[in-house]
Amino acid sequence: MKLSQRVKNLKPSVGFELLKMAQQMKSQGDDVISLAIGELQGKTYPAIRAAGQKAIEEGYTKYSPSAGQEALRKKLAEQASQQFSIPFSAENVFVSNGCKYVLYVVFQSLCETGDEVLLPAPYWMSYPPVIAFSGADLKIVPTQAKQNFKITAEELEKNINSKTKVFLLNSPNNPTSAIYTEEELKALGEVLRRNPHVMTLVDAIYDRLVFSGKYAPHLLNVCPDLKDRVLAVNGASKNYLMTGWRLGWLIGSKELAQVFSAFQSQTVSCANSMAQRAFEQAFEQCEEDIKETIQKLKTVRDILTEGLKDISGLKLFPSEGAFYLWLGVTSFIGKTHKGKRLNSSKDIMEKLLKDKKLLCICGEEFGRPGYLRLSYVAEESAIRKAVVRLQEFFSDLT
Ligand code: PLP
Repeated sequence: MKLSQRVKNLKPSVGFELLKMAQQMKSQGDDVISLAIGELQGKTYPAIRAAGQKAIEEGYTKYSPSAGQEALRKKLAEQASQQFSIPFSAENVFVSNGCKYVLYVVFQSLCETGDEVLLPAPYWMSYPPVIAFSGADLKIVPTQAKQNFKITAEELEKNINSKTKVFLLNSPNNPTSAIYTEEELKALGEVLRRNPHVMTLVDAIYDRLVFSGKYAPHLLNVCPDLKDRVLAVNGASKNYLMTGWRLGWLIGSKELAQVFSAFQSQTVSCANSMAQRAFEQAFEQCEEDIKETIQKLKTVRDILTEGLKDISGLKLFPSEGAFYLWLGVTSFIGKTHKGKRLNSSKDIMEKLLKDKKLLCICGEEFGRPGYLRLSYVAEESAIRKAVVRLQEFFSDLT
């Protein structure tokens, strides 16, 4: 069977490959600590679990309207109106099966061959394949360590041209956990105002998992006038521990929400009906659970950063939200571990797994070699063990 070029170019998701590898190693008896996957370990919050069970009993087991259930769209619109102080209604909302599929629908609907999508690097590794499926060219904009890997207004302006269709902004960021400040967003907004042909997609899927404030600052907070050229993408996976429920959405112009919904009606039809119903009360009923999650994350983040901060040559970047720690390891490249020369951050990742049974993801996967991403979603005891393994590993390098 001759496969399509589109699919031949596709690499399977690294996150899912690593998850499989960690599970295999564990089942063979290896004491693997996985700091690789972007998924919190706890269960979905009790109120949502109960609402999900009820939803099945109530009969939310059928197709829903392709744009999403009206009651949920209303809730999402109300929440967005409050968060951004912009009046949105249900018609501004498009609901789908996870944020990843929202992104797929957006790029399929907006982009084609000849268009460019601007993506600051490092970036979440699923963005490039989703953009490639649309035929658009990816224009990767490297960011600077001294800016905590956030694109500046100058860098954005320099990279926009007449072909630029979409600018993709992710804050809180995966893999760096950096959060754009209101000032930084305002400066980006000024550039976007001068370039009305550019649509900005803001992926804020970690916006509740922040260590200061209720929400991470958003472009729509500081530039409400751009609302018709911003697609505010979000989802239930990370903030509400609902990765397997597959629920994501976007807030945008009514016209585009309709286009996306038509695309969805001819592909996956609609989002998971039970998940939509279960999520209706999430904003009201999960505040205490979220607070507890953030507190736990803060504790493990502090254990990890405290344990690693004195390793000579290791560069730690501030983890302001989500659950990632971004480490600079360039000073170890060229060193040797137990007789093997480490030529890249990928070599370091592989050696950590082989010799220390510690799984993390190298910067190469995020478009930025020389770094490692640690996902601190493990239990406190596992994080303490991980610290010891990392200290041993880096001090053994010669
Ligand atoms: N956006 C970012 C930045 C992510 O890190 C992830 C998952 O890792 C997603 C989107 C995907 O979210 P969902 O589970 O809603 O598809």
